Amino acid sequence: MEHEFAHGSDEGRAARGADATDGERAARRDEAIRAAVERGLLGPGSPVVGLLDVAGIRTSAAALRAAFDAVTAPGTPVLHAFAVKATPLVPVLRLLNEEGIGAEVASPGELALARAAGITPARTVLDSPAKTPAELREALALGIAVNADNPQELDRIDALVHSAPTRSPIGIRVNPQVGGGTIGATSTATATSKFGVALQDEGAREWVVRVCTERPWLTRLHAHTGSQGVPLSLMARGVEETYALAEEINRRLGRHQIDTIDIGGGLPVNFASDATTPTYAQYARLLSEAVPGLFDGRYGLVTEFGRSLLAKHGTVVARVEYAKRAGGRPIAITHAGVQVATRTVYAPASWPLRIAAYDPKGRPKEGPSVVQDIAGPACFSGDLLAEGQTLPLLDQGDYAAALDTGAYYFAHHYAYNSLPRPAIHGFAPAERGEIRFALVREAQTPAEIVAESGGDHPTGLLDL
Ligand SMILES: *Cc1c(COP(=O)(O)O)cnc(C)c1O
Repeated sequence: MEHEFAHGSDEGRAARGADATDGERAARRDEAIRAAVERGLLGPGSPVVGLLDVAGIRTSAAALRAAFDAVTAPGTPVLHAFAVKATPLVPVLRLLNEEGIGAEVASPGELALARAAGITPARTVLDSPAKTPAELREALALGIAVNADNPQELDRIDALVHSAPTRSPIGIRVNPQVGGGTIGATSTATATSKFGVALQDEGAREWVVRVCTERPWLTRLHAHTGSQGVPLSLMARGVEETYALAEEINRRLGRHQIDTIDIGGGLPVNFASDATTPTYAQYARLLSEAVPGLFDGRYGLVTEFGRSLLAKHGTVVARVEYAKRAGGRPIAITHAGVQVATRTVYAPASWPLRIAAYDPKGRPKEGPSVVQDIAGPACFSGDLLAEGQTLPLLDQGDYAAALDTGAYYFAHHYAYNSLPRPAIHGFAPAERGEIRFALVREAQTPAEIVAESGGDHPTGLLDL
């Protein structure tokens, strides 16, 4: 996919792969794994943890802001709202908020996380396709931006807007139907995607124009054209279509009613190496070339990036409990599998992960590379973090690190085999090369697993 966005000075970058910043991030990761073992955050008693690179997260947030600052007219209002579903952890949302990034939420739980992180309504956007009347009422009462997914939802919003005044900016989510990418599950702009108003369906465009004519408070359009696997050119076409619709609405209404366009998220992440590619700068430049009118100051912008902000800053590290062989294949049995890497285990072709090997002291493992399987702890044979990956032979007591797992991985626990949610620690380099850690989330205890599994009602079924 590189050829598509590699131009100008970025060509060199794409050819070189990882640059200095990427190299520093990889070095910090090695240091953090060593320090986590040294301090007992990782070991026989806590055989799997998630680690988050605080400096890396700050760097990505700054890169996102700078990329859009570079292409927007001075004074353009821009809200970068982190898609909370990518990493639903309160301390992460708080850190991003400090970096000027708000929140895109899609459920009462995500809204509660954003509020717990102190993110203001003005920096929050609500987007789910299944908002209940109660959720809509709360969002409008708080003044959170809402994007209506469909005509029935707009009916509900109508009733609420008429019953109480609201400060919420309100928009319509459209599906530009520009097509899908290589991963069906993350392609949101196919002809039959469940999201938004399908713009090319008969009468849909006219419907959008009409409802805007009747409702001066409809001031936004929203499109999220896809996530991992969708090429940048397709994402840009989705934005282009949405902008064209905004222009058409404003022209036909004879007023600048649509004043903000929410372009969604979806920048893909490179899981094949430490290189950050594509970059926010590349995408922002591509958009500014494809849709210059969107950046000339007439429209405010909202973005909703998730994976690209966090993926490369998270690592799940698991102890190798046993090393064995089957059918001539070496297999490392680790403590990270389907519970922390659900997508990879169930759809390995779409979501391959790079695994790095560390020795029992947490130092990068040396030695000849061998083709091996890295398996998880769950009781089904498909529970593999990686199949046939080439790396130094893992042995009992070593550690396997699943790289680039900061988004949609260890924060998305899957309770197969009642495996506990692992602890998550943030880390940052301190003076004298030392690493400091801060707890993001405690590991789940067996007692908590019992409690959330009906443990308070053990005889509940006996009296029926
Ligand atoms: C998931 C989602 C995002 C974030 O997508 P990423 O690929 O993680 O950047 C943004 N907006 C909406 C509406 C989404 O559903």
